[in-house]
Amino acid sequence: MIDKELLTSCFTKSQNISWPCSTCSNGYLVINEDTFFSKETSVSLKGHSHYEWEPEWVSFVYSCIFRCSNNNCNEQFASSGHGCLDWDIEEDDHGIPQQVYSPCFEPYYFYPSLKIIDIPKNVPDDITNQLNKSFELFFSSPSAAVNHARSALELILNHLKVPKTTINNKKKRVKINLHNRIDKLAKQHSELKELLLAIKWIGNEGSHPEKSLTKNDVIDLYEILEHVLSELFENKSKTILAKAKKINKAKGIK
Ligand SMILES: [Zn+2]
Repeated sequence: MIDKELLTSCFTKSQNISWPCSTCSNGYLVINEDTFFSKETSVSLKGHSHYEWEPEWVSFVYSCIFRCSNNNCNEQFASSGHGCLDWDIEEDDHGIPQQVYSPCFEPYYFYPSLKIIDIPKNVPDDITNQLNKSFELFFSSPSAAVNHARSALELILNHLKVPKTTINNKKKRVKINLHNRIDKLAKQHSELKELLLAIKWIGNEGSHPEKSLTKNDVIDLYEILEHVLSELFENKSKTILAKAKKINKAKGIK
């Protein structure tokens, strides 16, 4: 299960988010203290002289290198993004609640990319590559991330040998659209039809420039995709079914 809050949260210099390390999957990302830099942007600095200025107008850029907390792994992750001032209520020395502001940062980029869903080991490389590209763009451009996930869906259909073209009634070879390809697959995998169509619909939104997808929309898509990959490539249910068939054929355990 994907942790939505984890993927959409901001971090502060002293409070790391427990993003899991994509290299070892055991550790989580911590800031290499001396690598964190942030600067206020020029527009933000100019804003201070405005008579209506408020702390909410402040914006930063940041860059830093995270390392994996697992010492056996010690992977390094380059990251950059933007920041703002977040407010909280704290009591002062006299116990009077005060509004206090502190910088918090939202990542736009990680390299290497974070692993957002589990990809089963026997998923073909071209699908895995598309998914990794999608994860790389997740933080900076949810729509671009969705486009790569949609391409991964086309590749899944290729690997399942769903035809890409057909002959129309004018005897011309034409492309089969994604929706019809999913319909074809549904004959063998009826349980997956709804899931694949949902991926397709969110994928369509990704290519409409007027619609801006959020990280939460992309996470919904990833959740469905994770389930589809597990059903198609982990073969858990198929392995159990094969075992049952073997037992039935032998009329007991040999
Ligand atoms: Zn690690």
